[in-house]
Amino acid sequence: MTAANDHKRILVLGGGTAGWMAANLMVRAWGKRGFEITLVESPDIGIIGVGEGSTPMLKTFMTSIGLDEADWMPACNATYKLGIRFDNWSTMPGFLRYFHPFPAQLDDLTSPPFYSNCRARRNGLDVEGHPDHFFLNTYMAEHKLSPFAGENFPFTTLYGYHFDSGLLGEFLGRLARQRGVRHVQARVTEATVDRSGNISAVIDDSGRALEADYFVDCTGFRSMLLQQTLGEPFVAFRDNLFNNAAVVFPTPRPAEIAPQTISTALQNGWAWTIPLTSRIGNGYVYSSAYTSADAAERELREFTGVGDAADVEARHLQMKVGRVAEHWKGNVVGVGLSQGFIEPLEATALLLVQLTIQGFIRALDDDNFGTGGRDAFNDDINARFDAVRDYIVAHYVVNSRSDTEYWQDNANNNKVSQSLFDVISTWTSGQDLTEELERQQIENFYPPMSWHCLLAGYGIYPAKAGLQARDTRMHQGKLAEIREFIRRCSLNYAPHMDVLDAQAGSGSV
Ligand SMILES: Cc1cc2nc3c(=O)[nH]c(=O)nc-3n(C[C@H](O)[C@H](O)[C@H](O)COP(=O)(O)OP(=O)(O)OC[C@H]3O[C@@H](n4cnc5c(N)ncnc54)[C@H](O)[C@@H]3O)c2cc1C
Repeated sequence: MTAANDHKRILVLGGGTAGWMAANLMVRAWGKRGFEITLVESPDIGIIGVGEGSTPMLKTFMTSIGLDEADWMPACNATYKLGIRFDNWSTMPGFLRYFHPFPAQLDDLTSPPFYSNCRARRNGLDVEGHPDHFFLNTYMAEHKLSPFAGENFPFTTLYGYHFDSGLLGEFLGRLARQRGVRHVQARVTEATVDRSGNISAVIDDSGRALEADYFVDCTGFRSMLLQQTLGEPFVAFRDNLFNNAAVVFPTPRPAEIAPQTISTALQNGWAWTIPLTSRIGNGYVYSSAYTSADAAERELREFTGVGDAADVEARHLQMKVGRVAEHWKGNVVGVGLSQGFIEPLEATALLLVQLTIQGFIRALDDDNFGTGGRDAFNDDINARFDAVRDYIVAHYVVNSRSDTEYWQDNANNNKVSQSLFDVISTWTSGQDLTEELERQQIENFYPPMSWHCLLAGYGIYPAKAGLQARDTRMHQGKLAEIREFIRRCSLNYAPHMDVLDAQAGSGSV
């Protein structure tokens, strides 16, 4: 490796979304210092080509590389996302569906009564405990509103996006090349490792050696550099995340697009319904230990209403769920599927991609390209992976479906982490959930709002028959006030379709 402060050469191996996100962030951070950033990808291998939903963090990624929504959204058939609707995950009467909203500033006014109701109901009082009554984004998603209000209503709301992942990769690729990233199309067949355990070069199928100081492994599930070449161990999450396969196909979109992902529990997993401006993306994420690929495809066809239509071509995918033990080893950092993957229920993969690249850049900058920040970086990324895993596992272990062995086994799964066990115990024993998340210092990964929505949304409360009646008139009056407040606030927001149409027509909102 070259000495600190010298000109550096970074080689990103892989041109999926992770590779191009890495190349863009790195050229932004280091391009001005003259660092040489090269992205090598094999068109023969191709990209995974799924991954159509994001969290609000993708907005900060776009901003950090200097992009406005009007620059990239129409080019990627993108729509807005205010949260995720969960259908049929619970069988509790009154709780067959709930919405997990992204936070809005006005939640500061409506979440305290929600948390207080949740706690009261957990302790036996008959008060409204369903999250859907308390959040602005929930109401706005249902009424197909955008997250944009007029200037006279300066309250922000967080939002994510839906997009065509293939188009997003192409868009980011064009941008990175314009900004100076060198693009090499070649299949890498091996890597050479020096005596200190660092990779010194990758060799392509014509025998050419491509040398660099740092290698960013974005080779997808292959994890060619980190896992295959350096032998980094993989920590599988299969004990408590059973899903390992998916089947996907698109269907036409309706005229009006709601700014939400819908996640519907099916017999052996769940299906996503993701609206783009060009189509609906559908996918069924399931466990191959409980159903076959053919049966899963049939179930998704039935669910989406396409039946046996021959023009609907399904794609089948395998998923390797878990993470590497260390994301940065020697002079290699794994980013994207090569570092790990937690199934896509909360659409967190690109969030982890972004945090990994930003953390890596920061650690190198802060230590003048030394390795001083490596352990803290690895610990931080692992904590994030494990926190996302636990939040997702919670969706399965608190389910009350009993229709298939899959759901029963999920509900009976006792291999959850101590952290998740403590969160659920705090909830069921009627204690303060926010305090518990703070005690564990996990409130920054998934905030109290997310955990309350999940556990309340499934109706994890004492049986209705045993609840003690409350002063109903006062309670209903307060609820009506909250509903009316949310309804009135929502009047300030533009319809989702108006915003998308304006973007498509004029290039700006
Ligand atoms: C079913 C499913 C649903 C998903 N849904 C979501 C979602 O809603 N939201 C979300 O954020 N994420 C989602 N993801 C994850 C998301 O798809 C990925 O995180 C994202 O696409 C990044 O993938 P990648 O770039 O790591 O890998 P890939 O797209 O697989 O890219 C790998 C790249 O490496 C290159 N490559 C590999 N080997 C070599 C070699 N030897 N030589 C040269 N090049 C090589 C390939 O050509 C390709 O360019 C989902 C994933 C799955 C499986």
